[in-house]
Amino acid sequence: MRRERRQWQPGDLRCCSCDANLVVTRQADTVTAGAAILPGVPGAVCERCLPLVEGLAVQDLKAAAAATMLCEAPFEARTEPAVQFFLDLYGWQPDVIAGGAMRLHADGRPAAAYRLLDGAMAAAPAGFYQVERAALLLLDGETGKAHDQLLATGPDDHPCWHLHRGTLAYSVGRADAACEHWRLQTEARPDQVAGWQTLAYYLLFQAGDVAAAADLLERATALFPDHPELGQWLAEARARLADSPERGA
Ligand SMILES: [Zn+2]
Repeated sequence: MRRERRQWQPGDLRCCSCDANLVVTRQADTVTAGAAILPGVPGAVCERCLPLVEGLAVQDLKAAAAATMLCEAPFEARTEPAVQFFLDLYGWQPDVIAGGAMRLHADGRPAAAYRLLDGAMAAAPAGFYQVERAALLLLDGETGKAHDQLLATGPDDHPCWHLHRGTLAYSVGRADAACEHWRLQTEARPDQVAGWQTLAYYLLFQAGDVAAAADLLERATALFPDHPELGQWLAEARARLADSPERGA
């Protein structure tokens, strides 16, 4: 039977079928655990239980893939054990922890999300998790606290620092300053799709600056050609430009 244990500290990993202890091997950005990882549960199984497994089983799992799953995948397990599994699997891997906190928050467990980030901050690097915490505080409308946390950090602490700085400015009604921070985000870290998405969404759907949105989306889709949302928005921006009477002006 599964034992209850303290959440939000990395712990041993056990076979989700027979509870045997599993060996976890971590490389730079990939882990293996037991005979296979079952991303949909999520869990891992031992050699003996592997033939009993139905559904997807993978040999190893990249941290980036785990972070994406945490954000959007449906799990068979409840949210807390699902997030705890990834914590046991990767330890304090920043992207995975950030995804786990976002998932807890999205699933209506904000207190657990903050506790996870607090645990991570104690384990370092604190700056990264402080920015993640600020991002959750912004979602919760705790603008003052978010401001204090975010401004105690800097762009070197987090790949999306400028993005969150912009969202903070936006949340206090300073749209122009927000736009400037979001633009900085796309320049400083063009590899982070969230910066492009946020700025493009603002330009296209809120500011109504279709020409600027189209220009930005041309560049964004060149970097992320398979991103469905960015492609859709670019098509919409082009269509709106084609309809506009000042076309070619
Ligand atoms: Zn087993």
